[in-house]
Amino acid sequence: MRPSARLCGYMPQCIYCKKIDVQFNGEHVIPEAFGTFGADTMILEGQVCALCNSTLGGRLDQVLARDSWESRLRSQMLAGQGGRHRRDRFRERRVEMRYEDEGRFPECRGARFMMDWQRFFPRLMDQVIVVDEIGIRQSFTLEELPQADTRLFLDRPPGSISIIGTDMAACEALRHAVIQLGARLASDLAPPRVPEAAVRGPSPMRIEGFIDEAIWRAIAKIAFNYLAHISASWVCSASEI
Ligand SMILES: [Zn+2]
Repeated sequence: MRPSARLCGYMPQCIYCKKIDVQFNGEHVIPEAFGTFGADTMILEGQVCALCNSTLGGRLDQVLARDSWESRLRSQMLAGQGGRHRRDRFRERRVEMRYEDEGRFPECRGARFMMDWQRFFPRLMDQVIVVDEIGIRQSFTLEELPQADTRLFLDRPPGSISIIGTDMAACEALRHAVIQLGARLASDLAPPRVPEAAVRGPSPMRIEGFIDEAIWRAIAKIAFNYLAHISASWVCSASEI
C-alpha cells in the first residue's frame, strides 16, 4: 500500500509549490479529459494544492487536452459521442492538416484544412497558395499574410498563385490582400473558387503535430504525478514543472 503523508506523520505538502499551510484538493494523475477509470482512476489526495491544481491545469492540461496532437486524436474519438466533452473547444495551433503536394489533388495541392468542430470533420481553409522559387507550395490565411515574405508574390510565373476556400467573401479579401502585396493582376490570379475536393469531402491527408515546451511540460506533469502516486509524497518535489 502506498504510504500516505498522514501515515508517515508528515503534514500534507504540495509537490509543486512545496507549500504546507494551504488548501488541497484532488489532482487527477492523467488529466480528466483523457478519461476516468472508475475505482482505478489515479487521483492524488493531499499532494497538490488547489492553486497549483488550478493553475497548472489551465496552463498545461488544457493545452494537452485541446490544442495538441493528442487532442486531435481525442476529438476523433469524441466525434461519434455525445456528453459534455462534445462541447470542448479545441484549438488548431499545434496541429496542421494538409494535402500532400501531389497531382492527385489538382486544385488543392498543398492546401491546408482545419477541423470543423460542429461536424468534427476537416474543412478547407480560406487560403492563398503560392509556389516558391524552389517549387514548394506555401499556404497563408488572411491573418498569416502580414508575416509572409512579400517577395514570394512578386513576378511569379503564371499559375504560381491560387486562392481557394469555401467562404467566397474571405477569399475575395485574400485576393485583394495578395494584390496589395504586389501580385500582378493577371490571369494567374484568377477569381477564388471552391474546389471540388472541398465539396465532396477530403481525401487522406497529412496531419502533423508540433511539440513545444507547453506540451513537454504537460507530459512531464503526468509523469511526475504518477511518481507521486506510487511514492510517498515527501519523496517528490517538482518546482520546475
Ligand atoms: Zn501548490
